[in-house]
Amino acid sequence: MTRKDLLYEGKAKRVYSTEDPGQCIIEFKDDATAFNGAKKGTIMDKGIVNNAMSSYLFALLEDAGVANHFLERMSDREMLVRRVQIIPLEVIVRNIAAGSMSKRLGIPEGTVLGRPVVEFSYKDDALGDPLVNEDHIRAIGAATDEEVATLRTLALRINDLLREWFGSVGITLVDFKLEFGQADGKILLADEISPDTCRFWDTATGEKLDKDRFRRDLGGVQEAYHEVLGRLLSGSAE
Ligand code: ADP
Ligand code: MG
Repeated sequence: MTRKDLLYEGKAKRVYSTEDPGQCIIEFKDDATAFNGAKKGTIMDKGIVNNAMSSYLFALLEDAGVANHFLERMSDREMLVRRVQIIPLEVIVRNIAAGSMSKRLGIPEGTVLGRPVVEFSYKDDALGDPLVNEDHIRAIGAATDEEVATLRTLALRINDLLREWFGSVGITLVDFKLEFGQADGKILLADEISPDTCRFWDTATGEKLDKDRFRRDLGGVQEAYHEVLGRLLSGSAE
């Protein structure tokens, strides 16, 4: 499979068509942005880490019965996926309060939530990806009630699996963002699962091992990304 036309260039990835109209190639870049594009930078080899981590997790999720777009990791930075029609919602799952939820609701960062919180935001850069509820989702036509119920169930199932996998290597899954798409009438998990899209805290020390190191200028960004991938692939906390 080879790249044909550039279909879309986003903040972290490029999407290319292939000879097969049902497949595309995602190329992971080192570009990093935060605060809706207001902060920009690069994280060396981030694209390689995010492709490796996403490929590994998508394969595990498929085995666990979570249908997703992953077909093959083609190279360091390229992933072959099923081409989907992206549902314009970010599905966020939170186990511990942090980031925008802490700010909006005044809940101190680090507060363990009694049960996972699922949030939806409307994928629209110009609007700043606003938080939406199920009535808003129906009003803007982003998804049907039935689809929203499916997304919620899938997101919570994925949360259970990811918490277990990261927990076993000493990493606490604080929160994460998913994107889903439709192909042949089926809902598939798409996009990526990486330190760009998850909050990971070292369970033993509380150290942040994700994009918050970039957002908050904490240093050691590249090291943190490699640390999470290394633990996940070796299956150990050290
Ligand atoms: P953004 O800046 O919009 O977050 P990214 O840099 O993350 O974009 O680029 C990835 C783009 O590709 C996103 O718009 C995402 O929704 C889309 N995408 C992810 N997986 C697929 C897929 N399997 N088929 C089609 N588009 C996809
Ligand atoms: Mg993205």
